[in-house]
Amino acid sequence: MPQVSIVVPCFNENEVIDAFHAAVVASLEPTGRSFEICYINDGSSDGTGLRLRRLATADSRVRYTSFSRNFGKESAMLAGLRMSRGEAVVLMDADLQHPPELVPRMLELHENGYDQVVAQRDRSGETPARKAFSRAYYRLVRRFMEVEVADGAGDFRLLSRRAVSAVLSLPETNRFSKGLFSWIGFEAVSFTYTNVQRAAGQSKWGGRRLLNYGIDGLLSFNSRPLRMAIHTGLWLFLAAVGYALWIIASVVLHGVDTPGYATLITVIVGLSGLQLVTLGVVGEYVGRIYHESKRRPHYVVSETNESHQVPALSRPLEVVGQAPSKS
Ligand code: UDP
Ligand code: MG
Repeated sequence: MPQVSIVVPCFNENEVIDAFHAAVVASLEPTGRSFEICYINDGSSDGTGLRLRRLATADSRVRYTSFSRNFGKESAMLAGLRMSRGEAVVLMDADLQHPPELVPRMLELHENGYDQVVAQRDRSGETPARKAFSRAYYRLVRRFMEVEVADGAGDFRLLSRRAVSAVLSLPETNRFSKGLFSWIGFEAVSFTYTNVQRAAGQSKWGGRRLLNYGIDGLLSFNSRPLRMAIHTGLWLFLAAVGYALWIIASVVLHGVDTPGYATLITVIVGLSGLQLVTLGVVGEYVGRIYHESKRRPHYVVSETNESHQVPALSRPLEVVGQAPSKS
């Protein structure tokens, strides 16, 4: 059993994967610990799969799993955690945005008794728009979520074996790792490093994908949006009762007058909007229940380094083929 497992989700990382591998090996070898590198090919359509196959043949510490299509980074990380065998598991991106030279430091902190070591990036080098958006998002998340999620604390972290077991014991289909890591607890320590730009290739997180990821994060960890809908409804109901009382009082005091048509329309449109939003929130949760209840696997594996050893497989097949001729 290796002491350290590095888990790397890769989606179309053809251009950087070799450089990444060399950098990780270079920073881990001097530590004198035994290690394995678990690559998960998340349905890449460039040559990533081929490169992983080559790496695995050249280096026995490389293990990989290929998905049958793109299942997303969360699924890839889950597959990687399941694959890993080390006492300490480090999750890293393949694009060298998570500097491999920090791993020895993380291992040291782990040996000082921490179950989670989080490398937290600052936001240098990002566009002001994205910076502002992220900051606003984390402020929102902190208000709404029952778990603590820090800005810049991404998926670059070390987990001890028991922390990994805890994460793997959570059965949900809709996985939001940042929340899960925080949910499991254990003693965690974090340090900050300067943000690095990706070495080559392109980011897979456009604005829309990021927004959906954000919504997932908010909804998968609490039912506060539902609570908010109830509160809004209650206040509106109270306001309506108050308004009705006021109308009755004014009729009693001043006699009947013809009330405005504009106010009526405003109230109807406003309320229908609110109802639609509330329904949407409820629908989102129902959708989640539906998803969870299907209990589908998180991913489908098409190939691993253990399954791909064609020469080893062909021999038993020959034996089977020869058997009838002998008898
Ligand atoms: N990734 C993945 N599946 C996906 C999208 C991304 O496995 O569907 C991997 C990707 O290969 C990289 C990591 O997740 O190793 C982070 O992706 P990226 O660098 O595109 O995100 P960013 O750093 O821009 O947030
Ligand atoms: Mg990146």
